[in-house]
Amino acid sequence: MNTTVFVGGTAILADRLLPDARIVCEGETIQSVGSGHDVDLPTGAKVVDCQGQLVAPGYIDLHVHGGLGADFMDGTEEAVRTVCRAHLRHGTTTLFPTSTTGSQAQIMAMIHACQAVSATNNNDTPLPTLPGIHLYGPFFAEDKVGCHSVEGRRAPTAEEFRHYFAYDFVRIATCAAELPGAAEFYQAARQHNCFITCGHSNASWTEMQRAFELGMRHVDHFWCAMSSITSLRQRFGAPMQASMAEFVLMQEEMSTEVIADGWHLSDQLLEFAFRMLGPSRLCLVTDCNRALDMPPGQYRFGNIHDGSWLRSDGRVGWAPDGNSLASSVVGIDFMVRHMFQHTSANAVQAVRMASLTPAERTGIADQTGSLAPGKRADLLLLNSELEVQAVYCCGRRVPDAGQDS
Ligand SMILES: [Zn+2]
Ligand SMILES: [Zn+2]
Repeated sequence: MNTTVFVGGTAILADRLLPDARIVCEGETIQSVGSGHDVDLPTGAKVVDCQGQLVAPGYIDLHVHGGLGADFMDGTEEAVRTVCRAHLRHGTTTLFPTSTTGSQAQIMAMIHACQAVSATNNNDTPLPTLPGIHLYGPFFAEDKVGCHSVEGRRAPTAEEFRHYFAYDFVRIATCAAELPGAAEFYQAARQHNCFITCGHSNASWTEMQRAFELGMRHVDHFWCAMSSITSLRQRFGAPMQASMAEFVLMQEEMSTEVIADGWHLSDQLLEFAFRMLGPSRLCLVTDCNRALDMPPGQYRFGNIHDGSWLRSDGRVGWAPDGNSLASSVVGIDFMVRHMFQHTSANAVQAVRMASLTPAERTGIADQTGSLAPGKRADLLLLNSELEVQAVYCCGRRVPDAGQDS
């Protein structure tokens, strides 16, 4: 077994910084985490000098669509590998491939391709771990479909979603709570041990409460394509109704996520979400489309053949009308840095929101999400600005990631 020891860096633990850290990894697993003096250097170990650097756990992305020209909805193993490699270079060592709206055949092809890549993920080219997919589209509300193709949205039916759950590879399941069939969907998702979320929805507090009783515990991209007090006036008139936002803020068992690319939400909103929810209820996600690490231009959101169009200016995606946003084009390393630089979150908290918090919420915190013995050896070396200098995935250095690439 290969032993690698990371010495001399400052480790970013889940609750504090550990200076002069000594992290021993055996093969794919973290063996011990201690400070320089109390951990012996095993004989024959490979030593990685981390002087002047931060050592962070690999990042986890709950909500990601594409990168480097490919989208998971393209439905091929090649596309899945391309997206995964792109995000691995940005520090994502675990991700949940996320579906868009589309046909049943497209969604089945997407799940099939992701599962196939996950099952063969042990060759010489490191890829992030895929614990399962995020079944996101197609069960969105018509008035909150956002940048997804509206033709590809519909209400859930057991006849359709049973095909998706049959793969036993759906780990996160989204449905707009107000749709007919939502209750049956949530029940099925719960039976399949999914983390259940409500998104692209104009749900009221009452509808959220019903969904909560069925196991729903998360809302996708806070403030984006979700209900507000104002949007609910069009459905219910007077008196004004509490929305998804109030429900999440009030109910302590709920979590949510933000797209912290500096374009979707202002720094005041990011600070508000962080301060109101805290780092253990707020996740950082990319919601990234295929334009990541691609030149500015026109791209399909979702399937390569019939997904809706977006325009990337290199900083964010725009809908064709030029007025609304169409998901992000940057990696999760950018999101962590943005929270660190533009809100009161410190490095420990900013990293936690992209590692342990998403791991806890999705039930994989025993395997990954922090620098702790027994977990996967997914580690990042960062400089003081939290820029990725090197990525280690399952104990192996990712060759084309970080400053040496
Ligand atoms: Zn969305
Ligand atoms: Zn999305």
